[in-house]
Amino acid sequence: MGTEMMNMLPKCEANYAALTPTTFLKRAASFYADRTSLIYEGTRFTWRQTYDRCSRLASSLVCLNILNHDVVSVLAPNVPAMYEMHFAVPMAGAVLNTINTRLDAKNIASILKHSGAKVFFVDYQFVPVASEALRILMNTSAEPSMMPLVIVIDDIDSPTGVRLGELEYEQLIHKGNPRFVPVDVADEWDPIALNYTSGTTSEPKGVVYSHRGAYLSTLSLLLGWEMGSEPVYLWTLPMFHCNGWTFTWGVAARGGTNVCLRNTTAYDIYRNIRRHHVTHMCCAPIIFNILLEAKPHERCRITNPIQILTGGAPPPAPLLGKIEPLGFKVTHAYGLTEATGPALVCEWQAKWNKLAKEEQSKLKARQGIGILTLAEVDVKELDTMASVPHDGKTMGEIVLRGSSIMKGYFKDKEATNKAFKKGWFLTGDVGVIHPDGYLEIKDRSKDVIISGGENISSVELESVLYRHPQVLEAAVVAMPHPRWGESPCAFVALRSDSTTVTEGDIIAYCRKNLPRFMVPKKVEFVAELPKTATGKIQKFELRAKAKAFNVVVSSDTQQQVIDPHYNEEHILALSRL
Ligand code: ADP
Repeated sequence: MGTEMMNMLPKCEANYAALTPTTFLKRAASFYADRTSLIYEGTRFTWRQTYDRCSRLASSLVCLNILNHDVVSVLAPNVPAMYEMHFAVPMAGAVLNTINTRLDAKNIASILKHSGAKVFFVDYQFVPVASEALRILMNTSAEPSMMPLVIVIDDIDSPTGVRLGELEYEQLIHKGNPRFVPVDVADEWDPIALNYTSGTTSEPKGVVYSHRGAYLSTLSLLLGWEMGSEPVYLWTLPMFHCNGWTFTWGVAARGGTNVCLRNTTAYDIYRNIRRHHVTHMCCAPIIFNILLEAKPHERCRITNPIQILTGGAPPPAPLLGKIEPLGFKVTHAYGLTEATGPALVCEWQAKWNKLAKEEQSKLKARQGIGILTLAEVDVKELDTMASVPHDGKTMGEIVLRGSSIMKGYFKDKEATNKAFKKGWFLTGDVGVIHPDGYLEIKDRSKDVIISGGENISSVELESVLYRHPQVLEAAVVAMPHPRWGESPCAFVALRSDSTTVTEGDIIAYCRKNLPRFMVPKKVEFVAELPKTATGKIQKFELRAKAKAFNVVVSSDTQQQVIDPHYNEEHILALSRL
């Protein structure tokens, strides 16, 4: 009876307000009005000004006939306009679609077409590729009315005369109404952003985030990373990557300062760190190499530790060990576009401070535990959906459930259905759970190397290669093998100051440090590994190359030419099948 009466109490206007991260901006403008919101080279704004500019831009979008849930696309690096659009577009009731700046014209055209973008903002630097994309779109779209309205974003250093249509970003701000009242979010499940996956393993898909998911993820990451008030946040992570892992909204929530960055070079990173006393930054582990390889004149001494949140790819333990002595304090997170960015954070436990540094790096290289607003995280055997034991050994698929999981893939029911199973979101990543409950990723399911029936984790193998003093970058992929199906093939980039290292040296080193069947059968040296804009190594490219390294089968006898690195342990593994 009592419960019934409690249930009868209605949801009312006072206690129900949709959760949306756009409220962080108004709050920042009210209470941190004069604090610096954003710095970009010579440009500086306060939170009062940022709110004013976002309100004006939102009102201009509405005047341009942008209606509720229309898609607004943007192709820009981490410049102020890109930041402002994270608030202005949803304030206009529209959906923000940030496009990866490394895509080619064909991919950009297909995103514009698939998303049905009504407006397309283009940073001056990307005008050539955007024009080409628009030309492709024009040729493939049946009606001219399907073409988006194009608005160029100028910069202080943009050459004059770079135009794509009549409109420029600052004009929209100038003409807008600073007293614009944001379009009401009727339902917190309404869409706020449309982010296309980078297509590392399959065709890009349009991931839809809700206001609620974005709001809760933002809070989770602020808590998980323990980001205090007034952070000075350096934009080394592209904002187009899962909305900058939600820190576009998060920095406003903490009344912090955004330090925008057009290029992520060592010179620009250290210069901004020194000038603005940066306290926080996010990046893929690959950026560690940029920081470590910086020339002496590019570096600066870091006097107060800078918090780095890293993820997006496995950070090899040895790299973690090298970056921290420079003054960076690393927190490791794991996530994916479909989970609004980071879904697990390797929360640090004080008791680990007593351990040796190497041990600490190993613990930190694990992907960790679910963020606060995720309901549950597990590793399951996919056929039965049974949880794996917490033994740090049994592999299964990492699965997630909770508010930060996407609403689904835009206009793709089939892929959406495939992504969910029995109330769980399937990540496509293979992992284990350690006895302390912390998860560790072993591979993407598509990257696991299955050699003679044994699963070889490329991540494990790479982390051994990263410990080699001359290795700068390493990636291991499957190479076809006539008898074992697949065998590991390593691609290695050496440090710029490295002395001659041969394939034999690397193989000998692996033999010392790995079970014999895991030793790469081939090592290919490259100047640099192919990467996506978000710092992920493009393994599909490497796999295509590795196919050509096929182990030779002698044609006359049809006998396999047995690889010299082939060994008893492997044969033992096979005999266990
Ligand atoms: P895409 O899948 O198109 O590359 P995402 O940015 O969504 O785009 O990539 C997510 C994937 O990146 C995860 O499924 C996982 O394989 C990998 N990943 C993310 N964070 C980590 C991490 N901390 N350690 C290892 N792999 C990671």
